[in-house]
Amino acid sequence: MSALVKGHTGEWEVVIGLEVHAQVISKAKLFSGAATDFGAEPNTQVSTVDAAFPGMLPVLNGFCVEQAVKTGLGLDAEINLQSVFDRKNYFYADLPAGYQISQFSRPVVGRGKIVLDLPDGTAREIGITRLHLEQDAGKSLHDQHPSKTYVDLNRAGVALMEIVSEPDLRSAEEAGAYLRKLRSILRYLGTCDANMEEGNLRCDCNVSVRKPGGALGTRCEIKNVNSIRFVMQAIEYEARRQIEVIEKGGAVVQETRLFDSGKGVTRSMRTKEESHDYRYFPDPDLLPLTLDAAWVEKLRKSLPELPDAKKQRFLAIGVSGNIVNSLIEEREVADAFEDEIKKRISQKGLSPEETKSAVEFVQSPDQRQLSPSLLTAVTSSSGATSSTIVNFVFAVANARKEDRATLVRRLDLSGLGDLQDRKVISGRMVREIVEEMADTKKDAATIVAEKGLKQVTDTGAIEAAIDAILARESAKVAEYRAGKEKLLAYFVGQVMKATQGKANPALVNELLKKKLAG
Ligand code: ADP
Ligand code: MG
Repeated sequence: MSALVKGHTGEWEVVIGLEVHAQVISKAKLFSGAATDFGAEPNTQVSTVDAAFPGMLPVLNGFCVEQAVKTGLGLDAEINLQSVFDRKNYFYADLPAGYQISQFSRPVVGRGKIVLDLPDGTAREIGITRLHLEQDAGKSLHDQHPSKTYVDLNRAGVALMEIVSEPDLRSAEEAGAYLRKLRSILRYLGTCDANMEEGNLRCDCNVSVRKPGGALGTRCEIKNVNSIRFVMQAIEYEARRQIEVIEKGGAVVQETRLFDSGKGVTRSMRTKEESHDYRYFPDPDLLPLTLDAAWVEKLRKSLPELPDAKKQRFLAIGVSGNIVNSLIEEREVADAFEDEIKKRISQKGLSPEETKSAVEFVQSPDQRQLSPSLLTAVTSSSGATSSTIVNFVFAVANARKEDRATLVRRLDLSGLGDLQDRKVISGRMVREIVEEMADTKKDAATIVAEKGLKQVTDTGAIEAAIDAILARESAKVAEYRAGKEKLLAYFVGQVMKATQGKANPALVNELLKKKLAG
């Protein structure tokens, strides 16, 4: 996928590295027992540690460490058995201690990676530089009083994971794909809710441009962008701006910028000269963090199956490549899909032995256990029932992203399946019906009645269509009878076309074979 940007002087390559702040799912803060609920009354979740009362000491919350290590393992990263908490010193009203406790030179998680699933079906690996734990600051409220600023310390001390990427991203689309994949991994792991709107996932974008293959250019950092769409817009704008500066004979100045989502532009906030010197040093109130290797291994074994592994498994049971990505993005959707498959498999009248291995296959991350005959049983699970699944998958994958989870919860698949099992509708009608269900919130039976979608199971009508086609296609019929059995699919297609997709495919197959055998 070429993502070069055209300027007056030729093509430019955009280079992006992202720093993501992900709020750890934890009932208590990183160094105090105060609660972390979203939307609480201001200053109701503040301990004396968070408010930095004199003489108060931080006590590390082990659960937050566990969440960070889990996340590191989910990012396929090195876990550092020794890490250090540092003080990052600066003065601000919402930071009562005058410093934030963070990790600087020795973070808890080192190098890892994220695999991007790009829309053109290719995959690309993006390096993770590090993940470290740190405290969030409080919030200054500037809009509550005409001449005063209020401070809410509820957020002060909440645990954040800062996840830093290598400058490996090459376009706004890739940055979007990176954030979606990261969000999906965090949610599968249950370590961060990852809602950018609620502010529990925030992103700083580092952007530079260069001639393809040249040395890295000077970067600008766009702070605190709060939606994936804005991240992509900010990057597009910033890359164009830098190209223009350079092509006019100027130079990009390293600086921190802000994205104005109303105007769609980035604006300078402070230059490098004005940037803070945080004077990091190890926090003398905290010992270095030492992890037990066996404990880390235990956590590794307890991880849920992650999107990449799920994707491989879904591909193996015959879900096609272009829809698998939207299916795995949310665990809830993936699970609903999988439950449906399991249900279908067990209804299909496989032998108990086959059912058992089929369910094991669907559950097991190890596809090598799969026998070829079972694979055939699962993928070609005959006729109607498997197409319900496939069509369901299509409809879910094609629904607007924000509707997907609701769709899965609301759709009564068993109702749909019943209609199909009773041969009222054909597999190919399912998709249309599901989409209609999503739009109108009506149930399947109502839609079928309203749209006149009943399939033709009247043998006479189908036979008439078949006769007409076989008479028209006598040359192909002869080829078929001479042994070219692949032509059956062609005939089935013609009959379905002639009946506007309303014929029952199983019946069409059966009748065609009979007549062709002739
Ligand atoms: P800082 O701590 O000052 O923000 P880092 O060196 O830790 O600086 O880099 C922060 C982010 O900037 C990382 O995500 C990194 O990939 C990215 N980055 C570094 N150099 C460049 C560059 N030339 N262009 C784009 N991104 C860059
Ligand atoms: Mg930075």
